[in-house]
Amino acid sequence: MAASFEELGLSRELLKAVADLGFEEPSPIQILAIPPLLTGRDAVGQAQTGTGKTAAFGLPLLERTTESKGVQALVLCPTRELAIQVSEELSKLAAYRRSIFILPIYGGQPIERQIRALAKGAQVVVGTPGRVIDHLQRGTLRLDGTRMVVLDEADEMLDMGFREDIELILAQSPEDCQKVLFSATMPQPIRDLSKRFLREPEMLTIAHKMLTVPAIEQLYYEVRPYQKMDALCRVLDSEGFRKALVFCATKRNVDEITVHLQQRGYQADGLHGDLNQTQRDRVMGRFRSDGLEILVATDVAARGIDVDDVDAVINYDIPHDVEGYVHRIGRTGRAGRVGRAFTFVTVREQYKIREITRYTKARITQGQLPTLRDVHNIRTSKLLEEVRSTLAEGALDRWRLLVEDFQAENFPEGEAVARDMAAALLKLLMQRDFGAQEAVSESDPLAVPPRPAFDDGPRNREQRPRRRESGPMSRLHLNVGRTHGATPRALVGAITGESGISGQSIGAIDIRNAFSVVEVAAELAEGVLVTLNKGVFISGVRISAKMDEGPDPAPRRAFKPGPRRQPSAKFKKPRGSTTGRKQFEQSQDV
Ligand code: AMP
Repeated sequence: MAASFEELGLSRELLKAVADLGFEEPSPIQILAIPPLLTGRDAVGQAQTGTGKTAAFGLPLLERTTESKGVQALVLCPTRELAIQVSEELSKLAAYRRSIFILPIYGGQPIERQIRALAKGAQVVVGTPGRVIDHLQRGTLRLDGTRMVVLDEADEMLDMGFREDIELILAQSPEDCQKVLFSATMPQPIRDLSKRFLREPEMLTIAHKMLTVPAIEQLYYEVRPYQKMDALCRVLDSEGFRKALVFCATKRNVDEITVHLQQRGYQADGLHGDLNQTQRDRVMGRFRSDGLEILVATDVAARGIDVDDVDAVINYDIPHDVEGYVHRIGRTGRAGRVGRAFTFVTVREQYKIREITRYTKARITQGQLPTLRDVHNIRTSKLLEEVRSTLAEGALDRWRLLVEDFQAENFPEGEAVARDMAAALLKLLMQRDFGAQEAVSESDPLAVPPRPAFDDGPRNREQRPRRRESGPMSRLHLNVGRTHGATPRALVGAITGESGISGQSIGAIDIRNAFSVVEVAAELAEGVLVTLNKGVFISGVRISAKMDEGPDPAPRRAFKPGPRRQPSAKFKKPRGSTTGRKQFEQSQDV
């Protein structure tokens, strides 16, 4: 079986885009799906989100799409969020195929804009079934030139009542067009659909073996994607490993995490496929000889690692499959030593933990991330322990003289200030270590906030909250911008997650290259500022926030979250049976 993207038969443009994204090797579903899909065969793939399934169908889809105008490929997704996500991923993969235009279409967005974009000749449409049917009935979308139709998360679409719409769309697609169906589960209705519309489909299923994992302590933490960096630091700060291996999915993550850890004073370095042999040897040599505490690596780069005394493996990104997990955590607990494994899991990836447990019978316990107070207490105890052993070692004469001079100069009356001086030194050292976090709050800012009321399931948990209705707003200036990778979602997530304010209290967000300006309800702004300046990281950057006193920088370009306009009455089509579903699609538009 092919093991590299090159061997899968992809063009130079797509290989370049894949390399830019930092993917080092294809995931199992990609290895399985890409070659048959490239030949134009119909296929049924059993894969969940997080397995790399979007690129598994997306790369062949782009490969088979030409520059000529008009819809050549259609991807159907159950929700607006997934349609946007898939279209974003396809756009990244098509970075070097600039003449291919990828258009997401979904309920709740003004239809005129979609009509204009379709008229311009978009080649790839990613849409929700209801809105696709709307366009088909208006004649603004034609499928006669379509060469590939993909049903993504087909079981979800059927569960949501889209069966009739999907059948209509498949029936309107050209007879000889390639049809691909991806589904996490294969219930009878999915098999019926496949039997009716697909021609001798290739079955793409990853076979799992039962695997044995080493008998080591395994924990997982539920985190939001933007919290991972902070969560990693909490785990490292509280555990103080001598030698830890951090695994992530892409080269980009390796670089980001390494730099971040180095900035925090860790002896850390990274290993990925872009390093030459000499560089790899140097990093490995330092890790082996205890010159490094933390090695950050991709799976590919870690393959050659042969180190016996790794205390812990941290899965910063959960691996694509069970085999990957077993392989990774086998790096610790070797040669009779104690080892531990920690895995960060986002809400959407929780099924992976269940799958790993099912195929390994391992006990993977959900852990609570240490609070800032926990980390602080651990660090203080360690520091005091060091003081105790330094006292026991003696040889303090030189230092005692300095203290006596200091005392004579500052407290000539000879007050008993020894205890206060020791306290001041301890405070100083802890503040140097922790920065402004010395004032520790009772709450755990990394706790995953409860599911919001409008949430209809895991897919929506990272949605933008509704916009605040009214009231005076203050503008906060944050030192992260586009160049740091700041996004509205990351900013809102960090602000609401850390300060506990609701998303409704956040107004317009304007992200510039080097900074961002975020509107926050005026009465809460001071509190948010204090919290953000306590040592919050967004996109790996420690936040420095201040009131933005200047004029509104560019109101028109600001990202304005909140309910979009509903389609005008003129375009509302009375289709009795779909009313409920349509309302669902529109209710997604928050
Ligand atoms: P999906 O299953 O399509 O939702 O993909 C889950 C995540 O994995 C997305 O963020 C992808 O960008 C990423 N991804 C897809 N393929 C790979 C790969 N071969 N290596 C690393 N990350 C990948």
